[in-house]
Amino acid sequence: MTQTFDAIVIGAGQAGPSLTSRLTVSGMKVALIERDKFGGTCVNTGCMPTKTLVASAHAAHLARRGADYGVVLDQPVRIDMRKVRSRAATVTANSSKGVENWLRNMKGCTVFQGSAHFEGPKEVRVGEELLSAPRIFINVGGRAIVPDLPGLNEISYLTNSSILELERVPEHLVVIGGSYIGLEFAQIYRRFGAEVTVVEMGPKLVGREDPDVSDAVRDILEREGIHIRTSAECIRFAKGSPGVRVGVDCMQGEPEILGSDVLLAVGRRPNTDDLGLDRAGVALDPRGYIMVDESLQTNITGIWALGDCNGRGAFTHTSYNDYEIVAANLLDGDKRHVSDRVLGYALFIDPPLGRVGMTEAQVRARGLPYLSSNRPMTRVGRAVEKDEILGFMKVLADPSTKQILGASILGTGGDEAIHGILDAINAKTPYDQLRWAVPIHPTVSELIPTLLLGLQPASAA
Ligand SMILES: Cc1cc2nc3c(=O)[nH]c(=O)nc-3n(C[C@H](O)[C@H](O)[C@H](O)COP(=O)(O)OP(=O)(O)OC[C@H]3O[C@@H](n4cnc5c(N)ncnc54)[C@H](O)[C@@H]3O)c2cc1C
Repeated sequence: MTQTFDAIVIGAGQAGPSLTSRLTVSGMKVALIERDKFGGTCVNTGCMPTKTLVASAHAAHLARRGADYGVVLDQPVRIDMRKVRSRAATVTANSSKGVENWLRNMKGCTVFQGSAHFEGPKEVRVGEELLSAPRIFINVGGRAIVPDLPGLNEISYLTNSSILELERVPEHLVVIGGSYIGLEFAQIYRRFGAEVTVVEMGPKLVGREDPDVSDAVRDILEREGIHIRTSAECIRFAKGSPGVRVGVDCMQGEPEILGSDVLLAVGRRPNTDDLGLDRAGVALDPRGYIMVDESLQTNITGIWALGDCNGRGAFTHTSYNDYEIVAANLLDGDKRHVSDRVLGYALFIDPPLGRVGMTEAQVRARGLPYLSSNRPMTRVGRAVEKDEILGFMKVLADPSTKQILGASILGTGGDEAIHGILDAINAKTPYDQLRWAVPIHPTVSELIPTLLLGLQPASAA
């Protein structure tokens, strides 16, 4: 027999649970379907465990550098990987349990555990149960891409999920993919004591960023002894004895490297292939992302897609913001559009990269005059005091509107300090007004007014 609800939410990631809460508070009877751990990627295999590992790696790094600060440790630093792993597992398990308890005790919400499959535009099957609702919200996220590379099926490899199970430090970790996820793991494991090589097909690390940012990121990682192989064409794998032989065919350097473990970090793909979306008539783009309009509705009335699966964002905060947009439009009589979002994000290496808005390449591509200002972290008192002076900050602005177009802060505290600029862009504050802000000393943010005062005309392409 079909069970009828006012709404069905598929996926307990970063949008689904909060949306379920809003819908139930508004009086709706909601079915929430989750097939795996509650909290989704961020909580279980993404942000939370990785940032917990980043914290352990930072502790190891600082301990090794103790003497620079006059703190002398008599023993060499030793990593207890079981403790490292169990710490990360505890943080994620607590959070996942919190989400699960919240949903299971939510008045008006019925939790179904299993894989959801559309039977029609208003019907979803979970195991033996058939559910129906006039509104269906898809929040199914994504998973690591396993690329079609020669020899990959002959070796065992790690992904962002399976690497979290490691209770040992790999002798030589070869990270395939030099972007956000790959670089975080590369530095984490280097700081745990592994030899690490990052293999990137493109000519630059974090290729989406400007070359000055990408070069500085490379410099930071190489200073820690991470080997970087860019322009690695024709990546291939073969069993070594022991380990894995990774063919890289780079422009320079050895054509093959021998690693003990391989981590795949070459991107994500949406979990849309086994949802039965064809039965509901929901349109996908060629990469499998669910196509949505500005209010995140699919081509089928009554079906929305939120989070990573709609291809409009790839972060926890963009998924959560999707929930806010849908809730505002449906329940608050507001008109929110996904394209109004000012995108900010961070690369959580140490020091981190905080980013907001356009890159310089994107600003240049407009073909309009623009202003730019750049300051090294050596000019930031707080960075000097902490002896963490690598990196720089850069801001770009429009001379006619006086709006800030984008910024990058690569340096200690960059992931936090970027929010001053993110808020200014959101509030559409002209950059010259910020010069009258009186920032707290000594902070990284205190250099932002100085940075803005230094805006100079730059030449557009
Ligand atoms: C290693 C790593 C580090 C990251 N670090 C950061 C970071 O620091 N900051 C940041 O902002 N983002 C980070 N991200 C990205 C972030 O994790 C994702 O953007 C975010 O989790 C997306 O949320 P979501 O709600 O769209 O989907 P998800 O969190 O993936 O949730 C989707 C849920 O749907 C469930 N599901 C899927 N299919 C079905 C089905 N058919 N039936 C029932 N349930 C289903 C899944 O089990 C899952 O629980 C990281 C990602 C990775 C992999």
